[in-house]
Amino acid sequence: MTNAKKYVQTIQEKLHQQDRGEVEFLQAIDEVLPTVTHFLENHPEYIEQNILGILVEPERIIQFRVPWQDDQGNWCVNRGYRIQYNSALGPYKGGLRFHPSVNLSILKFLAFEQIFKNSLTGLPIGGGKGGSDFDPKGKSDGEIMRFCQSFMLELSKHIGPSLDVPAGDIGVGGREIGYLFGAYKRIKQYDAGVLTGKPLNFWGSKVRTEATGYGLVYFVKHLLAQEQDSFTDKTVFVSGSGNVAIYAIEKAQALGAKVVTCSDSSGFIYDPTGIDLELLKEVKEKKRQRLTEYAAQKTSAVYHEGKSVWSLEEACAIALPCATQNEISGDLAEILVKNGVRIVAEGANMPATVEAVTVFHDAGVWYCPGKAANAGGVAVSALEMSQNSQRLTWESEQVDQQLDEIMQTIYETCRQTAAEYDEEKNLLLGANIAGFAKVAEAMSAQGLV
Ligand code: GLU
Repeated sequence: MTNAKKYVQTIQEKLHQQDRGEVEFLQAIDEVLPTVTHFLENHPEYIEQNILGILVEPERIIQFRVPWQDDQGNWCVNRGYRIQYNSALGPYKGGLRFHPSVNLSILKFLAFEQIFKNSLTGLPIGGGKGGSDFDPKGKSDGEIMRFCQSFMLELSKHIGPSLDVPAGDIGVGGREIGYLFGAYKRIKQYDAGVLTGKPLNFWGSKVRTEATGYGLVYFVKHLLAQEQDSFTDKTVFVSGSGNVAIYAIEKAQALGAKVVTCSDSSGFIYDPTGIDLELLKEVKEKKRQRLTEYAAQKTSAVYHEGKSVWSLEEACAIALPCATQNEISGDLAEILVKNGVRIVAEGANMPATVEAVTVFHDAGVWYCPGKAANAGGVAVSALEMSQNSQRLTWESEQVDQQLDEIMQTIYETCRQTAAEYDEEKNLLLGANIAGFAKVAEAMSAQGLV
């Protein structure tokens, strides 16, 4: 066994002992660390400096209580968190997730992945993530506002434009960012750059809402182009119906694809005539309704209650999982392979389990990991930070073009790095090594801090 392999295994074992039960976090650790071993074999200096052992420890974890009052006058409480994982490349940057499943394991996995994702964008941002186990589903605007204000009362002590810049994630969109920003400015001062994903009329960036979904499709577009292929007439399965899914559907359709599925937490829609985007936006964005409403209004659509998109046995060329972590198990991945899938690109963070990734690799499917393929969202967040510093707003065309170029660079970096390690099709290895290399170099240059 090489020195690097022994070193990495020791770190993995230590984390498994220390963080018992943190299933998602350990899954992310086990997915990243073995691939980084190959890189460390050529960089013994990083082993000597124990860069990886230090990197896997978050710089800071903040946990706080969030008391708030519901519409009936009940006094409620939730847990709030912010994980400031790594600041080697810039201020901590990453979203806030409001969902009942939120716990330390999920946020540590998300923040850990965010370090490499942010590094891949080539922009000066470190990695962080936060959120709460608060469930926004079914809450009134007033309840959401009071919760956000209470959450910010504590979070404001720990963030700032040059310190830590949160944004949205699942359950946190423009409305929540607006309330959070309003609260921050009242508690501290008017620092536009303290949050990204802000609404357009107060310092938000054009194309930020669309960025994760568009960026995902751009990533796949560049992959297809290298194979002398395109989205035209390809059948695409999408899961989810939040802003990642909606704008992935929009861009894939614009490039000529036929998108036939989308989903929410209760089931999925199969619409063989192609998803009606206008109707989907009306149901999800305007009315905040369930997808059953889409099915009720569109006769060609079949609603599969309680089922996963990935259980659908129909031809599929490209799969874009845009719902949540671990939505594609090994068994579901087998179904996708039988359906003829050629490319799986992750709009969500870690939607494919370790088993699913193995199935894709074994079947020769192009697997595009979320930290590379969905980096467009955070990349445009970083462009929003630049605009806020300049006190200017850029035109849509400029932001969109930069997004496309960033996604192309990320794709090429992953592919070239994978090729350097003789694993031409292993974009996960390429993403992990390229993302890690920059962070390791910066940590080493900054010394033991
Ligand atoms: N939550 C998004 C992600 O997973 C965006 C984060 C951001 O814009 O800071 O990358």
